[in-house]
Amino acid sequence: MTSRRIFLDFVGCRLNEAEIEQMARRFAGRGDVITNNVAEADVIVLNTCAVTKEAARKSRQMIAQAGRANPQAAIVATGCYAELAPERLSHLPGVTQVIGNRQKDNLIDLVSEDSAPFYEREPLAREILKPGSLGRTRAFVKVQDGCDNRCTFCITTVLRGKGRSRSPDAIIEEINLLAGAGYQEIVLTGVHLGSYGHDLGQLHGLRELVEALLSQTNVSRLRLSSLEPWDLDAGFFDLWADPRLCPHIHLPLQSGCDATLRRMARRTTQEAFAALVTAARARISDLAITADIIVGFPGETQAEFAESLAFVEAMGFARLHVFTYSSRPGTAAARMPNHVPKAIKKERSAHMLALSKRLWMVYQQEQIGRVYDVLWESAYRATPDGYIWSGLTGNYLRVFTTTSEMLNNTITPARLTGLTGDGLRAVVA
Ligand code: SF4
Repeated sequence: MTSRRIFLDFVGCRLNEAEIEQMARRFAGRGDVITNNVAEADVIVLNTCAVTKEAARKSRQMIAQAGRANPQAAIVATGCYAELAPERLSHLPGVTQVIGNRQKDNLIDLVSEDSAPFYEREPLAREILKPGSLGRTRAFVKVQDGCDNRCTFCITTVLRGKGRSRSPDAIIEEINLLAGAGYQEIVLTGVHLGSYGHDLGQLHGLRELVEALLSQTNVSRLRLSSLEPWDLDAGFFDLWADPRLCPHIHLPLQSGCDATLRRMARRTTQEAFAALVTAARARISDLAITADIIVGFPGETQAEFAESLAFVEAMGFARLHVFTYSSRPGTAAARMPNHVPKAIKKERSAHMLALSKRLWMVYQQEQIGRVYDVLWESAYRATPDGYIWSGLTGNYLRVFTTTSEMLNNTITPARLTGLTGDGLRAVVA
């Protein structure tokens, strides 16, 4: 079997990133070599996104750039945009295969010249790349795909199908292998992570999965990616009694206005959301709550936007991901009346982003003087005093320290001493 050089990249969400990492491990397990240099690759695998027009444009751009950088390579396009527009992608220069989401789990076999699924016959450990080989100290593990909801703006649910959960045993095995290979932090991802286990008949599937992972793996840190608010109840937050669970939750609120939430078909309200945030803060110390917000949803009046802005401020989020609504054909929202003019959407986006910046500044300032465990990821510059190291706290603060110690992939306590342009300064305590 010939070993090939594989370059992988993605556009879009954490799940796409998790999938790319998982593919990298599997290609490596098959005996291929993962390269960070697109120009030397034999095969280029690109995981695309179609959640917004901008994401679709970036996906096309990523493919075109790869084609220009390496005209000899075989380009494999996969992901949501490949599912939505296979024809269009198949005509881009260099694209030899378009593999939609439904076939994505078999991608390694589909792009393998050897049809036998080699990685299934090898010890699972061969799938594991050593920490740092992709420049990482954390691994994203996809535990679930698809979604049974029908949020009216969401194309993802159309493209990814119904919710499907991986078996807990397979996830435990994968995480134990990753932890054994030195990964310090595992991030659980899914299209609709909170619905994990529902298709397996488990009402509290995610809670049970996290309990199992905390008791049956010894990974140093476990982090949960985005959680839909309606999937959680106050008891869920008792899981954080184990300090290995990172005190950061990301709740995709999407709007702080009840009327807009109803048009979005989001199964939450201001009242329910605020109660959830209160319960989470009561049970999890040092908690950072971040959120997604869409501005300019069809029919969003100035008064609704003002209500959303005020609610977001009242929730005291640590940070926001702000999305300007972008109409996706095939969704219910695309067919709604009263689409918001582009100029107004731009203005609202600027307002929401300014609020996000302010909230982030306040949250970071409140942390100065505190001591947190930091997972040190990389040294990115040498100075006369040592390397400047960058790391992440459990509550998702980016911190920097200068030391001649080798901190790579270690977790140490560090005192936060002040703000820098892009995070916080720290001294290893
Ligand atoms: S919960 Fe809503 S936004 Fe999230 S994937 Fe499902 S349909 Fe899309």
